[in-house]
Order: sequence, then C-alpha cells, then structure tokens
Amino acid sequence: MRYLILIIALMGCGKTVTKRGASFPSNEASPLESSQLDRALIKIQTEFETIGVSVNLRSLPYSVTTLGGNRAGVCYKKGGRSIGIALDHSTLADHFHTNDYLNDLYRVLLHEIGHCFFNRDHESGLIKAHGHDLKIFIAQDRGEGYYTALMNTVMATDGWHLIPNILWPYYVKEIAGQDRINKWKEFDRYTYIQLVTQYSSRNLSESLEIIE
Ligand SMILES: [Zn+2]
Repeated sequence: MRYLILIIALMGCGKTVTKRGASFPSNEASPLESSQLDRALIKIQTEFETIGVSVNLRSLPYSVTTLGGNRAGVCYKKGGRSIGIALDHSTLADHFHTNDYLNDLYRVLLHEIGHCFFNRDHESGLIKAHGHDLKIFIAQDRGEGYYTALMNTVMATDGWHLIPNILWPYYVKEIAGQDRINKWKEFDRYTYIQLVTQYSSRNLSESLEIIE
C-alpha cells in the first residue's frame, strides 16, 4: 500500500464573498472553462438529485470573469434574491486537484451554491483534534491522508483546507441541510478516520520514507 503525506494548504480566505446589489458580470469563459464548469454543475446537480434534494442549478446564470480583490467566487444578490454566480478565472485553474483531493472549483462552486440556492452564510467551521492530526483513509490503493483540520462545511471561512474526495459526499449533504458533523469521529460515517501523532512532531526522514 502506498502512503501519502498531505501538507495542508492554508490560503487566506475572505476570497469568497456575497455581493449585494452589484451588477452581474458578463461571462468570459473560454471553451475549456465552460466545459469545466458544465462538468462541475452536472456532477453537483446529480449529487443533489441522488440525495433527494430538489434544486435546479441551471435556474441562475454563471459567469467566469476576473473578480479582483482576491475573490474566488461571488454569489450576486439583488434585494435578497440570488441573481447569479460568478467565478474567477483562477478558480478554474485547478491548483490543488489530484486523485485524492477535491478540485478547488468544486469547493468554491458548492460554497457559492450554498449562498445562492440555500441562503447559507459564512461560518466558522473547522474540526481539529487537539495535539493530533486526523488520518483519513483515502482509497484502497492510495493509502491515507493526514490533516491538521477538516472543514465541517464549505461555508467555513476561518481556514481554507483541502477537501479529501472521499468526504465530498458529506459536504454536498451538509450544504443541503442533510448532515452536519461537529466532531472528527463523526466523519467515520464516510471513511475510516483516526487520530495520529501530529505531523509537525514526526521525524522528517520517517515522512520521506513513507512517501512513494
Ligand atoms: Zn462566501
């Protein structure tokens, strides 16, 4: 079995905001960006349907544009009504995706869908195990990932953490109000999870040894 050590990517948040009363930007998506966005919308729409959530993600327009202000995405609202979702070009540039970790597009898109379709606001929502890392079973042939924290919702803005693909079904359910995890142990509904010695205190040579 191969093992993978995950270094948590912590990006400054505040990238994603809800902007009220602003005009919706025109769509500048390239053909590649359009197909990426279509694929993501079809996947998320299908997942909502699978869990019995009635929502039509195509009932709002989407734009890929330059948002500025270090923003990854925006749910535009006017008079409390959602008018569209805009994503920054960089959000579709796929900085983090591997077979094991979620493409950033999916997290940002689900976050904006949370604002625009489920009327969700930003939250603080990090789950940590004091003095330990969380070890998550990733897949049969790909071993484990180690996390210093997990988000308990994609609406969390108090930390910007990678999402393991295996937990993606949880985040979709959470946005739709069908599940909510507040303690690390509860993630075992989705995958094998346990506490391990904190990564920072592990011996570097040991870490290098188990990366293949
Ligand atoms: Zn937001």
